[in-house]
Amino acid sequence: MWHDTGTGAGVIPAGLTVQPLGHLENAEGKRRIRNLLEVSGLLDQLVTLKPRAATEDEILRLHTSEYVDRIKDESSKAGGDAGDLTPFGPGSYEIALLAAGGCIVAVDAVLDGKVDNAYALVRPPGHHAERDMGRGFCIFANVALAAIHARQIRGLSRLAVVDWDVHHGNGTEHAFYDDPTVLTISVHQDNNYPPSSGAISDTGSGAGEGYNINVPLPPGSGVGAYVATFERVVVPALRAYHPELIIIASGLDASAMDPLASMMMTSDGYRTLTRLILGVAREVCGGRLVACHEGGYSPAYVPYCGLAIMEELAGVRTELADPLLELLASFGGQELQPHQEAVIREAMKLAAAVPVQPARHP
Ligand SMILES: [Zn+2]
Repeated sequence: MWHDTGTGAGVIPAGLTVQPLGHLENAEGKRRIRNLLEVSGLLDQLVTLKPRAATEDEILRLHTSEYVDRIKDESSKAGGDAGDLTPFGPGSYEIALLAAGGCIVAVDAVLDGKVDNAYALVRPPGHHAERDMGRGFCIFANVALAAIHARQIRGLSRLAVVDWDVHHGNGTEHAFYDDPTVLTISVHQDNNYPPSSGAISDTGSGAGEGYNINVPLPPGSGVGAYVATFERVVVPALRAYHPELIIIASGLDASAMDPLASMMMTSDGYRTLTRLILGVAREVCGGRLVACHEGGYSPAYVPYCGLAIMEELAGVRTELADPLLELLASFGGQELQPHQEAVIREAMKLAAAVPVQPARHP
């Protein structure tokens, strides 16, 4: 919560012509998720995992030493920018190590059977971070580093990352673009952020060809489009691939209230997506599922989305209702639209082309 993204107005650095306001990626949304978990009573029924800082060696499994050294140096002084739109303050290096380490702890807890599944509520987020630079508020690639840990240290032979953050998971895609042992699936708003990233034609390269699936949904997509994407693309791809662990890059910025995208998801929509992924996880990998928090910039609404996801993961329904659900669910265009279905049909071909792998039950 102490990772300081500064006084920029939204995502624009404050300056002579920009009145300071506060960065959109701040602690509040995350803090309010945690608070709602407590108020709802769900927190009392969860196992709390204590994060640890990732070691520098763990970070260097993906990131370049020049990049890591620069962040460390600037973080020990006044802070800086990790690359593109990623301001940070003093101490953010250590905090980013905790975020990456928290995701690794979550993976270990699930693989060790300490918990059935886990949600790592961490910041800064990670899915935009590249090997040698930060992007889109992300310093280190939390999800990719957790996946590398699962592969290299825990010895899994296959795992899948499902990224439902509304922006393209470019960092995760690049980390495993030529790697057939990590199936990466990103469902995002077409050409939002990063610019010109996340095309449906980007399917992997070399040995990794066919193991990267992008579903760039048109702006305005609602619950109908998301549920159809998961039922027709994501679940069939996971069923064929038989991962031994599924990691969700859990951005809550596809919500109808988000200022950084133009989608219309609701808490109930996220509940349904969670149920679908949990269902296929139980089929293929004994339910081993880890969600790592990414974006989500409506401090008012992300807590209800987060609660719905964690209720579903825990198999517990609290009595706390989403006060905005009825309004958001009534928005026009929540049902699957023909131009959205056209994209999903293209992506279904990619899912159908994922080679069927033998089950490897944990
Ligand atoms: Zn995002």
